Amino acid sequence: ATPMSVMVGIGKAAESGILIRNGESLQTTSKITTMILDKTGTITQGTPQVTDVVTFNNSDENTVMQRVASLESSSEHPLAEAITGHAKKQGLALSKVADFNAITGKGVTGSVDGQTLLFGNKALMDKYNVAVDDATEQAQALASDAKTPMYFASNNKLHAIIAVADPIKEDSVEAIKRLQDKGIHLVMLTGDNKATAQAVAKQVGIDDFIAEVMPDDKVNEVTKRQANGEIVGMTGDGINDAPALAQADVGFAIGTGTDVAIESADITLMRGSLHGLADAIAVSSATILNIK
Ligand code: ADP
Ligand code: MG
Repeated sequence: ATPMSVMVGIGKAAESGILIRNGESLQTTSKITTMILDKTGTITQGTPQVTDVVTFNNSDENTVMQRVASLESSSEHPLAEAITGHAKKQGLALSKVADFNAITGKGVTGSVDGQTLLFGNKALMDKYNVAVDDATEQAQALASDAKTPMYFASNNKLHAIIAVADPIKEDSVEAIKRLQDKGIHLVMLTGDNKATAQAVAKQVGIDDFIAEVMPDDKVNEVTKRQANGEIVGMTGDGINDAPALAQADVGFAIGTGTDVAIESADITLMRGSLHGLADAIAVSSATILNIK
């Protein structure tokens, strides 16, 4: 493509809310063979809401929510915001938390009123040897419903499962179909559990997904496919997507996402819609053909 047609392409893309940082990424975009899509906040809206509170061992639902929300008020994870928002709606007054600790990819710990609290996924419960056998069936049922179940333990005893749902963006299914129609192989990547990931992938028509990915491992999924000769696009919104966005042949940030993701990406989709991906590919193809 001539420098002039690249300029025209970048301008044309900008009109549809696609901000392209450099001419090279515009030219690579139409050559992408594999597109890796983050789940939370990229395919889904990224604002999970509490849907279910299942208690065990005669626990009281309000007490559970009060404890968990107190603990999560120190976390900035979207899951934490779902919990604290729910507690606020219920008018629950939160307690002070001591020894707060966020464990990457697993959950949070701390102590409230002298009780040691754990809240997070099964891996967190396993780490602290909390028995969850009574709850696994219900957790599985919630996950097959595309909800994310989280376990709450106090003094190493399971007290509840709290599930959240993060709705799929209204136009994700259609946008994903457009990419598949262009022959691009799609892979969904998430730190969420396998059953939930599978349910979401199915809803949006993606066959290939990788769940329970630790934040530091997202970039490895990109390099692995590049080593295989794929031209890899990566689309994400989170801090934990940033290294993968930088490593990809073309990194696409969701404009409503974190600043770190935007800074690490080559292209920003200002509208937050995945339609921006197929649109960017169309502009890229036209640019290479010198079509104005
Ligand atoms: P993602 O953003 O894709 O969900 P993370 O690595 O941030 O990936 O989280 C992976 C999993 O760890 C979550 O699905 C959740 O089960 C658990 N987790 C992480 N942070 C928290 C938190 N603050 N509260 C509860 N669970 C958490
Ligand atoms: Mg995300």
